[in-house]
Amino acid sequence: MTTVKCVVWDLDNTLWKGVLLEDGDVVLNEHVLDTITALDARGVLQAVASKNDHEPAWQRLEELGVAEYFVAARIGWGPKSASVRAIADELEFALTTIAFVDDQPAERAEVAFHLPQVRCHPAEAIPELLSLPEYNPPTVTVDSRRRRQSYQANARRRAEQESFDGPSEEFLRSLDLVMEINRATTDDLSRMEELTLRTSQMNATGVHYSDADLRALLDDARHEVLAVTMGDRFGPHGAVGVALLETGPAVWHLKLLATSCRVVSFGAGATVLNWLISEAAAAGAHLVADFRPTARNRIMEVAYRFTGFTEEYCACLGELRRAGDGETQRLHITPAPRPAPDTLRLTAVRLGRVPDAV
Ligand SMILES: [Zn+2]
Repeated sequence: MTTVKCVVWDLDNTLWKGVLLEDGDVVLNEHVLDTITALDARGVLQAVASKNDHEPAWQRLEELGVAEYFVAARIGWGPKSASVRAIADELEFALTTIAFVDDQPAERAEVAFHLPQVRCHPAEAIPELLSLPEYNPPTVTVDSRRRRQSYQANARRRAEQESFDGPSEEFLRSLDLVMEINRATTDDLSRMEELTLRTSQMNATGVHYSDADLRALLDDARHEVLAVTMGDRFGPHGAVGVALLETGPAVWHLKLLATSCRVVSFGAGATVLNWLISEAAAAGAHLVADFRPTARNRIMEVAYRFTGFTEEYCACLGELRRAGDGETQRLHITPAPRPAPDTLRLTAVRLGRVPDAV
């Protein structure tokens, strides 16, 4: 017997009592909440396929406190079989591992006709689902309980990656973009502080470094405070980014990277990261970046993944002081030289080298 890996729920008169568009304040059906939470604890994923307007239906799921349990939702007016197939494709699950719950016999018949491998249940079967053998995976590990969160994180990452595509390289090249990366001066610092404060969307650590914090590090031999400026054929963008890097012989530690949201679509974050990777490679050092997920900086996480940072373990991590807050992730890369950016002209200071004597 194949275990069910994902249950796809209809909404009207199945998950909730009544029809949202007619009855408004619908409430969950009996047994539904218990069933959803128990399936979730068993590592069985859940999704929604409903004929409704997406926005009010999803909002109602949120109000009912159950939206978080669903890893995928197809809410619209197309055939249910297409919705169920899209969900299976998205999760990369075989149709034999998908179940579908719907109160309407015609909808179950439509799914069964096009997708005979999918198990279809009427709404009256909800109270019995948990006792069926196919909903009782032989082992429930900690991993399977975390499965939902990890699918949801992947879905968000995919969505961000799609939105990260941005303008075409051809268009970017037509802008004659230039980027300069220099050691920050005291004059740069107030603008830098503003960047770490105001561009929370692009602040990879969510940590605020004050003007005084950064000023104190300007003369510290192990720290590099870097200012990023950009311009294009229409004129200067001014200071658009700041980075704080602690350099050591074996490992470089990127403690702060923040860029202005105005330059996100120019790939500014990834350009700075690729440059740092090349500099670290030239110095023979590994590169570790602090990343603390916040509600607004996911696009920065995409830049890290995009440039090759991972959570892989490396002995060099042991050389860093512990982050201490329990939320900051250490993303690691073993650097290799990167090609120069092909959509902008980069001029940058050389790091990790003794400055030429004057
Ligand atoms: Zn390392």
